Amino acid sequence: MVLDDLGSSLRGTLDDLRGKSRISEEDIEDIVKEIQRSLLQADVDVGLVQDLSDGIKSRALDEEPPAGTTPRDWVLRIVYEELVDLVGESTEIPLENQTIMLAGLYGSGKTTTAAKMAWWFSKKGLRPAVIQTDTDRPGAYDQSKQMADNAEVEFYGDEDSNDPVEIAREGLAATEDADVRIVDTAGRDGLNEELIDQIERIGAEVQPDRNLLVIDAAMGQSAKDQAQEFEDAIGIDGVAITKLDGTAKGGGALAAVDQTDSTIAFLGTGETVKDIERFEPSGFISRLLGMGDLKQLTERVERAMEETGEEEGDWEPEDMMEGSFTLKDMRKQMEAMNNMGPLDQVMDMIPGLGGGLMDQLPDDAMDVTQERMRDFEVIMDSMTEEELENPRVVGQSRTERIARGSGKPEERIRELLQQHKQMDQMLNQFQGMGEGDMERMMQQMQQ
Ligand code: GDP
Repeated sequence: MVLDDLGSSLRGTLDDLRGKSRISEEDIEDIVKEIQRSLLQADVDVGLVQDLSDGIKSRALDEEPPAGTTPRDWVLRIVYEELVDLVGESTEIPLENQTIMLAGLYGSGKTTTAAKMAWWFSKKGLRPAVIQTDTDRPGAYDQSKQMADNAEVEFYGDEDSNDPVEIAREGLAATEDADVRIVDTAGRDGLNEELIDQIERIGAEVQPDRNLLVIDAAMGQSAKDQAQEFEDAIGIDGVAITKLDGTAKGGGALAAVDQTDSTIAFLGTGETVKDIERFEPSGFISRLLGMGDLKQLTERVERAMEETGEEEGDWEPEDMMEGSFTLKDMRKQMEAMNNMGPLDQVMDMIPGLGGGLMDQLPDDAMDVTQERMRDFEVIMDSMTEEELENPRVVGQSRTERIARGSGKPEERIRELLQQHKQMDQMLNQFQGMGEGDMERMMQQMQQ
């Protein structure tokens, strides 16, 4: 994730402010240095970093904190606001009939992003279609078709044609009934005239409502020049940053956004069609700073619940913060989280779990694999209400009975109980975080 370690290092520096009644220039210098270090490591443009530093310094020293605000909270708030300002607004993507064209270099993640976006639109209740015009890369057609299938969305491509403009034209006609047409284009290892000429011709045919530039988060400052060329050729309305799961960078993409005066539309966080998020500046920065993003989590939970067809779909993330955690809760959450994506990513979004706490957990606490999950479900089916509500009653003889009933080894049953215990302990730690901390984070997120 961009600026991955910013949250923890910054929290450390901010913690030094605890108990102080006023902030000195030196305190601010330390904090700004910490932020600069993280941003530069993430490849953020030096000029942008300088502007941000100046903004934080002058505000922290000149502005008066509102009554009742501690210096620590005040500085955190300024840093948060300035960072939100740095990443900018989210690209406007109206939920209506439209054509979106994707541009970018070879391997940036265009084809993947096209299918992901289609999936995203379909979850918003629209009918999307992917049009694949890349006739240069041999595997593009199959890959695109496969991903569109995975996303359960309409697909148009023509593996026998080598004329992208013609494919685009026919694709538009063939997907007339779709609400949103996402046109994927060819890439190259580097920008060249042929690529630019081709995308200009496709653009002229398709007349897209918006063009999105797809950029690999690991790309450095050269993203800026690349963005400028696409901007000159077709005009860039927004950027999709991909592979945020695999890098601590992302600064190149920010530079591209700045260069083209555009904004960020989507974030790609994995290889499956579901690994996409709409970019939300405040949520993004909250998460980065380890404050979590309840809004995104709630969205994911809702979506997962819809897919699970859960009758008692009244599980709220907030429930995890209170009351006792039974095996029934665990089963519900396993189902929901299975639909939401990797558990550790979900956990990252919960305030307070983002930084540090996760690292204290044994690795396999989060490692609920599909296979184990299925076994766990079968095992739970063989348990009584009493056992599900209160797993502590399950001793050796009950374990033997459940093993016979479920056809699963006793070891698996102990594993399930162990897993439950770990999650329960984790939630207890979470509850122990302190009301004040939690409330403050929530308030900040809502502002
Ligand atoms: P294109 O050449 O621009 O169409 O790029 P592709 O869509 O084929 O993506 C290139 C590679 O990056 C593929 O192996 C994808 O699976 C992978 N990829 C794309 N987006 C992401 C992402 O968000 N996370 C990860 N981990 N891999 C991604």
